Amino acid sequence: MSESAIVSQEELQNQFTYMDAVAELIRGRHLRAYTHTFGCQQNEADTERIRGMLHEMGYEMTEEVSEADFILYNTCAVREHAEDRAFGNIGALSHLKKQRPDVIIALCGCMAQQEKNVEKIKKSYPQVKLLFGTHALWRFPSLLYRALTEKKRIFDIGGADDIAEGLPVLRGHGPKAWLSIMYGCNNFCTYCIVPYVRGRERSRRPEEIEKELRELVAAGYKEITLLGQNVNSYGKDLGLDVDFAGLLRRLNAVPGDFWLRFMTSHPKDASPRLFDAMADCEKVAKQLHLPFQSGSDEILRRMNRRYTAESYRALIADARQKMPGITLSSDIIVGFPGETEADFEQTLALVQDIQFDLLFTFLYSPRSGTPAAAYEDPATPQQKQAWFERLLQAQDAIVAQRQAAYQGKTMRLLVDGTAKGPDYPFTARTEGNLLVCVRGENIKIGDFIEAVIEKTSLRCLFAVKQ
Ligand code: SAM
Ligand code: SF4
Repeated sequence: MSESAIVSQEELQNQFTYMDAVAELIRGRHLRAYTHTFGCQQNEADTERIRGMLHEMGYEMTEEVSEADFILYNTCAVREHAEDRAFGNIGALSHLKKQRPDVIIALCGCMAQQEKNVEKIKKSYPQVKLLFGTHALWRFPSLLYRALTEKKRIFDIGGADDIAEGLPVLRGHGPKAWLSIMYGCNNFCTYCIVPYVRGRERSRRPEEIEKELRELVAAGYKEITLLGQNVNSYGKDLGLDVDFAGLLRRLNAVPGDFWLRFMTSHPKDASPRLFDAMADCEKVAKQLHLPFQSGSDEILRRMNRRYTAESYRALIADARQKMPGITLSSDIIVGFPGETEADFEQTLALVQDIQFDLLFTFLYSPRSGTPAAAYEDPATPQQKQAWFERLLQAQDAIVAQRQAAYQGKTMRLLVDGTAKGPDYPFTARTEGNLLVCVRGENIKIGDFIEAVIEKTSLRCLFAVKQ
C-alpha cells in the first residue's frame, strides 16, 4: 500500500485540534449526543469511532433522541428498505427541529456517499445540517466545528480511500468488540452498491491490528470480530508478506482467553490455507459465514461472483473435514434479475445439501448505478415472494433439526447480555455463535461458562450453568 493511503500524523493532529476547539465551544453546556446505526457491522464500528470523538469533545451519550443536542444517523445503502427507514427517521425529526432549532441533525455513512441522496437531502430535508460520506469520517471534528459555528448547511462527500489510525473509539457495553482489518471492496458483484460507496480495498497494517487486539484483550473483551467486506483478500494491497491466514495465526498468538471471529469471507478467495489456519488456531472460533448468494451457476456468473455451486460445495467439504462440528452461515439473494424457477431450485438444493445453521435471506433490491439494476427482470414480485417463503420454510426445518441435536450437550459459552424472560435471565453464545439463553448461579456478563443444553427452539438453545 502506498503510504499516502494512511492519513498523515499532521492531518490527524489537525482533527485533534478541532476536537479541542469543539470541547472549548461547548464547555459547561452539558450537551448530549444520540447516534443510530443502520446496516452492517462495519457501520457499527464506524459509529463507535464517531461516538469516541463525540465523547472526547465532551458530549454525553443519550439513548433518547428527544433530549439530544446532536443527532446522527449512520446510514446503509445496501437495500432500498434500509434507505427508506433512514429517510423516515430523518423526516420524523422535522417536528423536533421546529421545537428546538438549536439541535444539530447529521447524516453519514453509505447513503450519504451517493449524489442522488445528497440532492434529495438538500432539497427535501432542510432539518439536516451536516452530511458526510464514508470517506470523511475521520474529519468529523472539523465538520462538527463548522456545523456549530457556521450558519450554512455542511455537505462533505469528498475524500480519498484513506485509513485513519488512532481515532478515539467508544464501544458498547459487554464483552464483544469489532476490529476493522480492512475497508472497501474490489469485487463489484453486479447487484451491490458497497464498492461505489466504500471505495477500493485497503488493509490496515498487521502491527496496528495486533496493537488494537492487545488493547481490547487488556480491556477485558472476550469476543473480537475482525471486519472487512472480503477478509480473504486482506493484505493484497500492502506489498508485505502477509495474508489473512497469516494474520489469523499472528493474532492467535496474542495471550489471553478470547474468541476471534471474522466476517465476511468470499467463496472465490476462501481457501484450504484459511481453513488450515482456522483449524490450527485455538482462539479462532470454529464458525464460518460464507455467503453463496445463489446455487445457480448462471446466476452466479451474472452476479460476477466468480465461483460455482460445485466449488462452493468443495470448500464447505474441506472446512468440515478440517473442523468437524463447525457452524456455517450464509447470505442468499432471492429474485436476482432473470432468476427462473429452475435457478431457484438449485439454490434450494444447495441449502438442503449443506444444512446451514443460520441463513440471512434477502429479496433482491435494485440499486441504481449497479449493473444488475439495468438487467431484465421478468419474474413477478409474487413469484419471488413465493420462492422466498419456500426457502424460509426449508431452512426452518433444517434449523429445528440441527438445534435439537444439541440437546443434553455440555458447551462452553460466553455470557454476553441479559434475556427478556425470567426463567433464563442471561444470553450467551456458543463458539459457533449460536444464541443461548442461560440460567444458573453466579452468572456474570463477560464470563466464559460451561453449561448443559436443556431444551431447544428454532431461534435459541436453553442451558443451565454447570
Ligand atoms: N461483502 C459481503 C459478501 O460479499 O459476502 C457482504 C456485504 S453485503 C453488505 C451483505 C449482504 O447483503 C450480501 O451478502 C448480499 O446477500 C446482500 N445484498 C447486497 N446487495 C443486495 C441487493 N442489491 N439486494 C439484496 N441483497 C443484497
Ligand atoms: Fe458487495 Fe460483493 Fe463486495 Fe460483498 S464482495 S461488499 S457483495 S461487491
